[in-house]
Amino acid sequence: MTVEQLFTCRTCGIEKPAKDFQADRRMKHGIIYRCKKCRCKKRAENGSYIKEKLRKYSYRTGGNSIHITVEELQKVLKQETCSYCGCTLTDVLNESTEATVDHVYTISKSYGGVNLPINIMPACRGCNASKHNDHIYDFYQRSEKFTPELWTEFVSEFGRRLMKRDLTDLEVEQLKRNLADEADDLRRNAERRAVATG
Ligand SMILES: [Zn+2]
Ligand SMILES: [Zn+2]
Repeated sequence: MTVEQLFTCRTCGIEKPAKDFQADRRMKHGIIYRCKKCRCKKRAENGSYIKEKLRKYSYRTGGNSIHITVEELQKVLKQETCSYCGCTLTDVLNESTEATVDHVYTISKSYGGVNLPINIMPACRGCNASKHNDHIYDFYQRSEKFTPELWTEFVSEFGRRLMKRDLTDLEVEQLKRNLADEADDLRRNAERRAVATG
């Protein structure tokens, strides 16, 4: 008779069989010494699952794939206010309130944004032009018309599209932090590239 080997979770201290731990080949016994239950709790507390999703959908996705359902497209077209500043969109050509479609992540070599539904936002011409190639976090930081309330509103809506459900207040705060980190990373990478190419 073989007795199943038990491992002790370093977080909750409970002995559990290997299947209750996350596999990791780099570890001695092929598992991470935090049980799946504790790991889930940890991930919920620090919002790392949102970060993973964000990474998957944002500039690291690479390649431009045009993928949007008719329903999603109709929703974008029906929106009457700017996703960034909240102004009422108009049909007046070249006015700052003119309705345009913006990519949250710019479609360019360095940002690699894609035509995924979460990346497409109705925006006024003014916001679209002044956002240019900036990361969405930096854009909200440098423009004076943006209040913390507008940033929260944007992140809530962006998060709802990302997770396909409403986010809790805690998750909105976690996503805000993730977006700020992402903007920092991009800025640092750009600086490194600038130094490298002299
Ligand atoms: Zn545990
Ligand atoms: Zn706007």
